[in-house]
Amino acid sequence: MTARWELVQGDLTQVKADAIVNAANSALSGGGGVDGAIHRAAGPELLAECRPLGRCPFGEARITRGYRLPAAHVIHAVGPVWQGGTHDEDAVLAACYRNVFVLMEQHGLRTVAFPSISTGAYGFPIERAARIALKEILAALERLPSLQRVTVVLHSERDLKVYQRALES
Ligand code: ADP
Repeated sequence: MTARWELVQGDLTQVKADAIVNAANSALSGGGGVDGAIHRAAGPELLAECRPLGRCPFGEARITRGYRLPAAHVIHAVGPVWQGGTHDEDAVLAACYRNVFVLMEQHGLRTVAFPSISTGAYGFPIERAARIALKEILAALERLPSLQRVTVVLHSERDLKVYQRALES
């Protein structure tokens, strides 16, 4: 059987999948980084669908359509803002990944691509975030036979190497 997961370097907005995950803010209002890129590529209909959803708490996720993206859906997950590691950041980040998989299951989705949640503007140390992300992804693949493919799309070669090293350790 071929592996059901992969780490790649690239642009998440170009990925064709049942869903891509947005590293959203709790207002679901778009912003910088991957969030801004997703909203620009999806078009204004995405923000129009997000607005009535209201606020999304840290660690939770909401699903919308993908509009002009090659991905059918966007799952907006709100990662923790790094505050030194003493504010449950690890648990909140893990909850983000788990809640994405809950929505995948509820909506019968089988392929998903993630960015490195919280490791940009939100300042979560990427080595630590990579270990949490990979642990949750591998656990979900064990638990959910319906999952066909999970891709982590790293924006830079440096970030890709961090994730590859986390996988080895
Ligand atoms: P957060 O606020 O959760 O930290 P950011 O968007 O600032 O979210 O950063 C999350 C990660 O997404 C960072 O590693 C950043 O390099 C990456 N990123 C930014 N644009 C893209 C993109 N188009 N595709 C994939 N990853 C991206």
